[in-house]
Amino acid sequence: MTSPNGSTTNLSADPAAIRRSFDHTWATLSPIGRDRVSGGYNRFPFTAVDLSLREWFTAEATKRGLDVEVDRNGNQWAWWGTPTSGAVATGSHLDSVPGGGAFDGPLGVVSSFLALDALRAAGVTPVRPLVIINFFEEEGSRFGLACLGSRLMTGQTNPDTARALTDNDGISLADAADAAGIRAQDMGHDADALAKIGVFVELHVEQGKNLVDQNASVGVASAIWPHGRWRFTFTGEGNHAGTTALVDRRDPMLPFATTILAARSIAETHDAVSTFGRVRVDPNGTNAIPARVDAWLDTRAADEASVSGVVRDLSAEASAAGTAHGVEVEVSQESWTPVIDFHRPLRDRLVATLDTAGISAPVLPTGAGHDAGILSNAVPTAMLFVRNPTGVSHSPREYAEEVDCVDGVIALAAVLTDLLTSPAETVTAGQ
Ligand SMILES: [Zn+2]
Repeated sequence: MTSPNGSTTNLSADPAAIRRSFDHTWATLSPIGRDRVSGGYNRFPFTAVDLSLREWFTAEATKRGLDVEVDRNGNQWAWWGTPTSGAVATGSHLDSVPGGGAFDGPLGVVSSFLALDALRAAGVTPVRPLVIINFFEEEGSRFGLACLGSRLMTGQTNPDTARALTDNDGISLADAADAAGIRAQDMGHDADALAKIGVFVELHVEQGKNLVDQNASVGVASAIWPHGRWRFTFTGEGNHAGTTALVDRRDPMLPFATTILAARSIAETHDAVSTFGRVRVDPNGTNAIPARVDAWLDTRAADEASVSGVVRDLSAEASAAGTAHGVEVEVSQESWTPVIDFHRPLRDRLVATLDTAGISAPVLPTGAGHDAGILSNAVPTAMLFVRNPTGVSHSPREYAEEVDCVDGVIALAAVLTDLLTSPAETVTAGQ
């Protein structure tokens, strides 16, 4: 194989060997945190399940002779070579959403270990170290803030804010971390850890069907769509469901219903996606007209103007519906993540490397957030996607064919070989 800078490596991946190794490795991880009834995964940070996942990661690293470090923010690092600045980093996360699938996160971690095996089998001699990272609390399922490990490390989240986050039982992140042996007081911006990453490549199952449509097993990410969350509050008048005449009601559920339907049609107009996936009704009684409805809108699109357009038009629609029913409507933004364009020269380099390796990888955007997106604000970052035949994600039905997973490992191995054997100045050229 010839890398884009002209150096030659002898990576000749053996798909049958990778497949056997994939089967074995996947089988050791699969039972951890799986609900026997639903088949979904509940892998939340600082729980017994999380501890088992961390032990699994350490065992996989140790059996390959890698040294494992845990950084100040709970991320695990497995080193091939001496830890130093400017390493080639890969990996993903092992946590899940409630009732999540098997592939979102773990596919990237497993593929990283298997890609390393392929590199060694091929006799690749790196000129810089490789590090495999298991990022802490990517999904934000327990403490509500996604990509917490990478956000803290890069200084994009205030550690005091993070420490004060609580789970559904009221346990603070600080207490949960301390109980799990990770000192919460040490959490925060970690410039030393960040400096160790010269370049980061995350492999992830695709959360959509772009690769199905393009008939490709592996793709390269172009961008992460901008996305945000808004709270819509409808305040009316609580009253008796039996004794209040329809004409006398100020029922907040009615303008909310109009708003849900409008979210769909307005999103279509702006080529965006909009979801009301969470709602709180007060008092939430069968025989009571609600006094208030709070609902959370998640909106994403390829560009920021489309997202703003949805929120602007939907706010107007909700307000008009509120007026018609004597209900007050308030809209407030709760989070905003701008568009993330991955490092263009690195992305082009990945496509060229894969092309040379005989893998035709389309370039595609995603609507899902990732640690790679957070890191891309600090270091050259790229992502590889593996085809998901149904496009379903964050569900037990999330899936990738084994043959595509093997292609993913081969693709990652090709990319890592190039990055590990090329002069540093060419790896980050164009930053
Ligand atoms: Zn993920």
